[in-house]
Amino acid sequence: MEDLRKAAETNIKEYGFPVAIDEKSGALQWVDMRELHLKYIISIENIQEFFEGLRDGKLLATKCKKCGELFFPPQKDCPTCMDSDMEWFELKKEGVLETLTVIFVRPPSFSAYEPYTVAIAKLDDGVRVTAWLRGDPQKVRPGQRVKIEIAKRKEGYLMYEIVPVEG
Ligand SMILES: [Zn+2]
Repeated sequence: MEDLRKAAETNIKEYGFPVAIDEKSGALQWVDMRELHLKYIISIENIQEFFEGLRDGKLLATKCKKCGELFFPPQKDCPTCMDSDMEWFELKKEGVLETLTVIFVRPPSFSAYEPYTVAIAKLDDGVRVTAWLRGDPQKVRPGQRVKIEIAKRKEGYLMYEIVPVEG
């Protein structure tokens, strides 16, 4: 695990993400250095597409080719169709704030941060995104318009954030 972390730290500079090659499978994998919201992401061999999307400023979901349902974070299988015939779908990155919570008691890996806000937004495409909320949590209210921005964290890697839209 330590070796993976070191490799990931190196790769932050190269790829913009904490990724490392898994020695057993040879596949690129995300090294969980900080709290992430990618728990249900599709299998490792397809994860790269998602990261490359982020790097290009795109937030990618998967879409079931049979029923058209969207999944974010991307999933490999559609639970309705019991099928894994999925395609990538670029989300519009705009939606409505549903709820938020401020995290005062932070896990050790987040000790470098001030208390932060985790929010859930429902995008206009219909999927929900859980991510950090940028800005003052006192100044936002559920139902207000938000957008998703892809930004670099202190550690130098890219992550998507929920950002209130003015007006
Ligand atoms: Zn389906």
